[in-house]
Amino acid sequence: TEAEIDAGRRAHELDRTHVFHSWQAQGPFSPMTVLRAEGSRVWDGEGRELLDFSSQLVNTNIGHQHPAVVAAIQEQAGKLCTIAPQHVNDARSEAARLITELTPDGLDHVFFTNGGADANEHAIRMARLHTGRHKVLSAYRSYHGGTQLAVNVTGDPRRFPNDYSAEGVVHFMPAYPYRSYFGSETEEQETERALRHLEDMILLEGPDRIAALVLETVPGTAGIYAPPPGYLAGVRELTRKHGIVYIADEVMAGFGRTGAWFAVDHWDVAPDLITFAKGVNSGYVPLGGVAISRPIYETFVDRTYPGGLTYSGHPLACAAAVATITAMREEGMVENAARLGTDVIGPRLREIAERHQSVGDVRGLGCFWAVELVKDRTTREPLAPYGGSSKAMAELMKALLAGGVLAFANFNRIHVVPPLNTPDEDVIRGLEVLDEALAVADAHVA
Ligand code: PLP
Repeated sequence: TEAEIDAGRRAHELDRTHVFHSWQAQGPFSPMTVLRAEGSRVWDGEGRELLDFSSQLVNTNIGHQHPAVVAAIQEQAGKLCTIAPQHVNDARSEAARLITELTPDGLDHVFFTNGGADANEHAIRMARLHTGRHKVLSAYRSYHGGTQLAVNVTGDPRRFPNDYSAEGVVHFMPAYPYRSYFGSETEEQETERALRHLEDMILLEGPDRIAALVLETVPGTAGIYAPPPGYLAGVRELTRKHGIVYIADEVMAGFGRTGAWFAVDHWDVAPDLITFAKGVNSGYVPLGGVAISRPIYETFVDRTYPGGLTYSGHPLACAAAVATITAMREEGMVENAARLGTDVIGPRLREIAERHQSVGDVRGLGCFWAVELVKDRTTREPLAPYGGSSKAMAELMKALLAGGVLAFANFNRIHVVPPLNTPDEDVIRGLEVLDEALAVADAHVA
């Protein structure tokens, strides 16, 4: 309506006057206004309907405004909005029960945080105290959050301007079959060589100095590159052998995104700690956490855990988590994500890849897919440089928006990451828009 459009314009004006945005030069950008969203759709400031192929920051796994979750938040708000973390609260207890029911066996306690970065910070703190060691190993081409340690552990260019007080953080090359650092031609080779590299890194850094290894089970923003068969089992074995705490960052990959509750389920590995956030309650109220295995829990039975947050286990956030997990179960959303990946998104993206010279690789699982764009399929030269954008990528994003699709772009990739309950016809329509829009990218191919 006109009134909504006016309200949006006023919000935009105030935003540009007073709001300081994440990861942005504040001057030269004009953010999209969104006052309304429902399911897999959002409406921009001019009232234009867009299909949300980004799930915002890959967090609205159940789509926007799920009625059961909205009702649960309202009910909890009517009962008790907040309570200090030292008290017992029913919403928090139930959320912890439901989450630990879903985590691999043995991870049966949860420390709640406000989001993903602080979940990783606390997981590393637990690992350091548990082992009495200091160093942390993490992968290049990764993202672990924006707070100081989390951004230092991160392996993406957002780390560079923040790369101080990173003492003790060491990066290794992950397995990444499409751009193998190890010159591998098969997945088997990649697994074997990446694990040999990791073992060398551990030996060269001193195994008895390394507290933790942090790894996204399926790296998200860095490219949705699932580990080749055997890689995670090898990581589990190496970390166990050397007494290193294996922290699986499932902030983006967890809670159904990959078509399993946790991505580690696909490879049947049990990490020592799992960090989560985003999908745990679809981001309706900020929430993250660390799922903790028994030996690490036991470190803190008689010893004080030196960490905490005013909002650890916030009742509104936990009530939203309980309702989200319940709705996901009742509506079979995780199974649906798996089916969408296998039957709809995967096959269609592979057809799209055949039709477009600019597509170098399509890969993913569940509702978690990347389309990697290249200038040349043989050399695999990316369509935008690492850490940057390009005219071709900007034009492609514009074409997607013009077609009514809100997608997620990172460097030379478009990510297809819709909510797990997006209706098939919407997924198909969005992929048709992508198919057409890619003509713009093809025009930049040599
Ligand atoms: N870890 C991963 C894998 C993420 O994708 C993100 C956010 O995108 C984070 C950690 C940080 O989470 P938050 O932004 O909630 O702090």
